[in-house]
Amino acid sequence: MAYPAFRPDRINHGFGPLVSHVLDARLRLAGHIRHTPLVPCPALSAQAGHTVALKLDLLQETGSFKLRGATNRILTLPPQRRARGVVTASTGNHGRAVAHAAARLGLRAVVCLSALVPANKVEAVRALGAEVRIVGRSQDDATVEAQRLVREEGMAWIAPFDDPAVIAGQGTLGLEVVEDLPEVTTVLVPLSGGGLAAGVALAVKTVRPKARVIGVSMERGAAMHASLLAGRPVDVEECPTLADSLGGGIGLANRHTFDLCRDLLDDVMLLTETEIAAGMRHLHHCHGLTAEGAAAVGPAALLAGKVRLDGPAVCLVTGGNVDRETFRRVIAAADAETAAATALHEVA
Ligand SMILES: *Cc1c(COP(=O)(O)O)cnc(C)c1O
Repeated sequence: MAYPAFRPDRINHGFGPLVSHVLDARLRLAGHIRHTPLVPCPALSAQAGHTVALKLDLLQETGSFKLRGATNRILTLPPQRRARGVVTASTGNHGRAVAHAAARLGLRAVVCLSALVPANKVEAVRALGAEVRIVGRSQDDATVEAQRLVREEGMAWIAPFDDPAVIAGQGTLGLEVVEDLPEVTTVLVPLSGGGLAAGVALAVKTVRPKARVIGVSMERGAAMHASLLAGRPVDVEECPTLADSLGGGIGLANRHTFDLCRDLLDDVMLLTETEIAAGMRHLHHCHGLTAEGAAAVGPAALLAGKVRLDGPAVCLVTGGNVDRETFRRVIAAADAETAAATALHEVA
């Protein structure tokens, strides 16, 4: 799909302060965040005719890049705010990241969850040292309780994506990419609320203005894609998907990531569930990785031939928090397909 052209003038003017936030975040996060490996992928490189490398941020503590943004946000709180603790309402990678970052810094963290969140997810957050508060029967109810803690107890709300300090923290991933592969021409970024894509695009395009940054989402329930098409933030129906970390809306009152994604992303691709599963199997078979669906969309887009390369490319492999049963099913499905193909071959 075609978006309005990239506007480098906005990087230099409107977005200038945000770029310096990314550099600040890089210094602030030293010692808190791993500089994760960038590894070549021979199979995808052969298929694409250009070097393809994988940025393995699923090796970040807590199993996803979300630790970058959450830690940066918490470290930018003034000491008297930190002392009152932090709160969020995420069930997924952001909740884990906030819990872990707060525990590391010796701060109180409350994660508000709805009664519908499965017990294993609740336990995972608790095991990271956070206080879990179960409220209501929806994500909205949990968010209302979190907002109450902000108002009445002065706790600091740590937003999952629509916050300049979170965007800047995620942007440090983009800086590592251009350091490790300065000749990069394309970066494939899993896209949900757009904090990662915005931060990475700011960092990469500041250093390499001609590089393309392409967002990748699932066909089902891609809120940023629908919003970019509509020209304003819109809600989409949430659907079950292998890329569950890419679900959820961008917020109808979105303040930062919608504008940044509109102005900085070169394109957004959507993938079917079958294509996402193939990406997960590729990462497992060729690299021995347990990647969640959201993290496999870059390789999946290349495997599906949905992105053409004109030079070296990097896929951000963003997280590894997938439940065992789902992962087993995805891997076994391929084995079933292979088995069926072999059987047919033998018959023929
Ligand atoms: C949150 C998340 C994303 C998307 O990040 P946004 O900033 O919301 O666009 C991608 N991959 C994984 C594994 C995530 O947890």
